[in-house]
Amino acid sequence: MSDTDVTGRVVIVGASLAGTRTAQHLRTLGHTGPIALVGAEAELPYDRPPLSKDLLKSDWADETVESFRLATRGELDEAGIDLRLGIPAVGLDVAAKAVLLDSGERLAYDTLVIATGAAARPSPWRPASGVLQLRTLADARAIAERLALGEPVVVVGGGFIGTEIAAAAIGFGCRVTVVDPVAEPMARLVGPELAASLVDLHRANGVEARFGVGVADIRGEAGALTVVLDDGTELSTSTAIVGIGSIPSTDWLAGSGLQLENGVVTDAGLRAIGAEGVFAIGDVARWPHPGRGLHRAEHWTNASDQARFVAAAIAQGADAEFVSTDYVWSDQYDWKIHTVGHRDPAGTSVVVGDLAADGRVAVVHADASGTPCGAVTVNWVRALNQIRRLLASGATVDSITEQLEQLGSSAPRAAA
Ligand SMILES: Cc1cc2nc3c(=O)[nH]c(=O)nc-3n(C[C@H](O)[C@H](O)[C@H](O)COP(=O)(O)OP(=O)(O)OC[C@H]3O[C@@H](n4cnc5c(N)ncnc54)[C@H](O)[C@@H]3O)c2cc1C
Repeated sequence: MSDTDVTGRVVIVGASLAGTRTAQHLRTLGHTGPIALVGAEAELPYDRPPLSKDLLKSDWADETVESFRLATRGELDEAGIDLRLGIPAVGLDVAAKAVLLDSGERLAYDTLVIATGAAARPSPWRPASGVLQLRTLADARAIAERLALGEPVVVVGGGFIGTEIAAAAIGFGCRVTVVDPVAEPMARLVGPELAASLVDLHRANGVEARFGVGVADIRGEAGALTVVLDDGTELSTSTAIVGIGSIPSTDWLAGSGLQLENGVVTDAGLRAIGAEGVFAIGDVARWPHPGRGLHRAEHWTNASDQARFVAAAIAQGADAEFVSTDYVWSDQYDWKIHTVGHRDPAGTSVVVGDLAADGRVAVVHADASGTPCGAVTVNWVRALNQIRRLLASGATVDSITEQLEQLGSSAPRAAA
């Protein structure tokens, strides 16, 4: 079909944030043709960020879980979206323009949207009960059950998800150890300027941080596990949670002819390289980012923005290059961390505010040429919003820091 044929058959594989939002935007933008939304999970589509935040603290009442659904079945039915849950796609025939489902069915498409996201990078240690990972609602439920026991927990991996789990475990009264082979794992999240403060925050809340040493083995079973570190230290624990990143879900595309390199490689308009009428979006997509080269983002706003972008390309023939907002957030205890843009390791950073004194701070990043390229804020949403506006308007680092200083001196902490 031509990109503007609103009657064409659209098949979307992956029924989570990127896939569900694409289907909904297509209808809003006037697409009248059939839309099939295929998902491997049997669950109605749900949002993942609460899995390491609200849901790990909740009592798992039905209404709490339902509040994190991306749509109800009624809404999807009303929109005429053919929802196929619990049926993974197992192959793609780009010549015949058909998706092969695990059920044996072939779904013909005029346009295919690949939104199969990512899966938790598998734990390299031998499987044992009590060793858990977090990607799905079922994973979060299993982790919440273990945390509720209030027994010791070792979290392997000091990334956003690992540290959010650690914070939740502290809330359950667990003794928590976070292990990461990197000496300052928080630097990956917030940059070197704030990494020590974030480690201090976890320590102040009772987390034992074992950084700069890896895990050699995990032995035993739930309730009586031993995590063996590379330096020979043995940590006794009841539960181990392994959060060591994720890998894009592309196995089902092997041999399809699509370019697969740490994700589905696309052009700047998110069209998959190697086939006609195929887009890739969300955590599975690797596209040419203007500032970062071929890039795969694993962030909510990116998946949501790419869904809207591709729906417009399909329903309205919009022919543009995707521009990412590069926005990420994390909640750690009562800290609200936001990052926008990126940090150039060859560039410079300016700190505005004093986290210890004011409880809030902003760090503005410039690239090697001195051009502002990103920022991180802690507990300072007004600064974040201002930085986003100023970055978009092409302001200089001096101008951004000056305006943030004014904002800081004019607004009391409570108004941040
Ligand atoms: C615990 C957790 C906390 C997070 N917190 C934050 C946060 O605070 N801030 C932030 O910006 N981002 C956060 N994220 C990241 C954010 O949730 C993801 O970027 C977002 O979910 C990506 O959406 P997606 O639809 O591209 O992929 P996914 O959400 O991974 O969904 C892909 C879907 O495709 C399905 N699928 C896979 N293979 C197949 C197949 N062969 N056939 C059919 N279906 C298939 C999967 O089962 C899955 O349902 C978090 C993620 C997790 C796991």
